[in-house]
Amino acid sequence: MKTSSVAPKSQPSHTTEKVTTVICTSSEPEEPPGKSLLVKNSEEEPPSNTATGRYRFFWNVPDSSWKDWKWQFRNRITTLEQLVKLVPLSNEEQTQISSVIKRYPLSITPYYLSLINPDDPNDPIRKQAVPCIKEITMSSLGLEDPLAEKEDSVVPGLVHRYPDRVLMVLTDICPMLCRHCTRKREWRHGAWTRTDSEIETMLDYLRRNTDIRDVILSGGDPLTLSTGTLETIISKIRAIKHIEIIRIGTRFPVVLPQRIDAELCNMLSRYGPIWLNTHFNHPNEVTPEAAAACDHLLRAGVPVNNQTVLLRGINDNVEIQTRLCQSLLKAKVRPYYLFQCDEVQGTEHLRTSVDAGIKIIEGMRGHTSGLAVPNFVVDLVQGGGKVPLQPNYVLSMSESELLLKNYEGKVFRYRNPGSLERKEEAVAAPPVSGVVESLLADADLPVKVKGEANADRIIIRS
Ligand code: SF4
Repeated sequence: MKTSSVAPKSQPSHTTEKVTTVICTSSEPEEPPGKSLLVKNSEEEPPSNTATGRYRFFWNVPDSSWKDWKWQFRNRITTLEQLVKLVPLSNEEQTQISSVIKRYPLSITPYYLSLINPDDPNDPIRKQAVPCIKEITMSSLGLEDPLAEKEDSVVPGLVHRYPDRVLMVLTDICPMLCRHCTRKREWRHGAWTRTDSEIETMLDYLRRNTDIRDVILSGGDPLTLSTGTLETIISKIRAIKHIEIIRIGTRFPVVLPQRIDAELCNMLSRYGPIWLNTHFNHPNEVTPEAAAACDHLLRAGVPVNNQTVLLRGINDNVEIQTRLCQSLLKAKVRPYYLFQCDEVQGTEHLRTSVDAGIKIIEGMRGHTSGLAVPNFVVDLVQGGGKVPLQPNYVLSMSESELLLKNYEGKVFRYRNPGSLERKEEAVAAPPVSGVVESLLADADLPVKVKGEANADRIIIRS
C-alpha cells in the first residue's frame, strides 16, 4: 500500500517470520494453499462456464470459509499451477508467467480473483493481479527505488521526515501482490514482520518526540497482523498524549474485504481518531462486499479515503475514473489522491504519460460533483514529495483581475479583490477590453465579448 504523506526512506532491518504465525491466531488446522479451490467435491457438479465470479471458480467453497479472511489468506493463489486451473492462459503465457514470478512473485486472494472476467485478457482486475512478461522485458526502464526509500530512518521501521508525522512500517506482507507496486523490490525479501523489541524501540521514539502528532501504520499491509497484535500496538500509541491521530494504509477493503470484520472494527472504535486510506483502482472493485467493509469502518468511526494509482489500460480514461469515484462516493469513501504511477522497475508497461492524468481531471472537474474529483499528484524521485498537478484554468492574473477558463472552456474575467483599494493603479490601468484583447491575442485565443454590462464577470469567449 502506497502511503500518503510520508514514504519510508529506509530498508529497515527486519525479522523473517512465517505468515501463519502472524495472522492466524485461531486453533483451526492449516489448509494447504489452493486445496479448497482445486479439489472437486465428488458429490457436486461444477456450474456451467457461463457462471461468473465466485460461482465459476469457487463453487465448492462453503460460505463459512469464503467469508473467513483467514481462509482467504491461506488460500491465496501463489503458483502457476494454481493459477492455470482458474484463469485461461496460453502455453506462451504460462511460460512467461513462470519466468516473471521467479523475480516478482504472485499472490491473489480467491475473493479478488473471483472478480476477474476470465474471458477478457484485458480485464482490469486481471491486469493488476496476474504477472505480465513486460515486468521483465521493460525492466531496463525505471528505478528499483525511485522514492529513495533506502535512506536511514530514525530507528528501524520508523520514518520521521516531516516535523509532525511519522510512518511505522510494521510488515512487508500483503494479501495481494499488485503488479504496479512501488515496493516490488521488497518482494524478494520474503515475508517479515517487526519483532516486539523493534516495535518497543519505535514507541520509545514516539514518546520522546513531542512534536509528533500523526502516526501512519504501513507496510506491506498492516492489517495482515492479527487484530490482537494490532491492538497491542495501537493502544500503546494511543496512550501517548501528544499523538493526535493514527492512520492506517491498507488495501484489504479492496482485495480481501472479509478482513474488515466485527472484531477489527470494535477494536478500532476504541482508539479513535483513526483514519484509513485504501486503494481502489477500478469501479469493478467496488463490490457489495467492499462497500460493506467500508461501511463497517465508517460505523466504527473510521473515515475512509481512497488513493488510486493511474494505470495504463486499467483506469486511464475519464469514463472509468468518473465511474470509480462516483461508486466510491456511493460507498461513502472519499476519492482523495490519483497518483501518477511511480517510476518503478517492473511497472513501466502500466505507466501512463503525466498529461493523461491532467486530462482525466479536466474531464471530471465540473462534470461531476467536486467531492468525486481526486487530487492528481506526482511523487517526486529522491524523496522530493508530492506535487499536485491540475489543468490550467488561469489564463492570466494581475493585481486587478484574472482571466479564468471554466470546465466548458469558456473564459471569464474575475475581479481580484483588493483592486479597488489600489486606486491609483486602477485609474492608470488601460481599458478592460483592451487588456482582454491583448492577453487573448498573445494566447492566440479568439475573442468574443458577450456581456460588457457586467464587466467583473463577463464571458469573453465561448
Ligand atoms: S502489493 Fe499492493 S497492497 Fe501491497 S504495498 Fe504494494 S500496492 Fe500496496
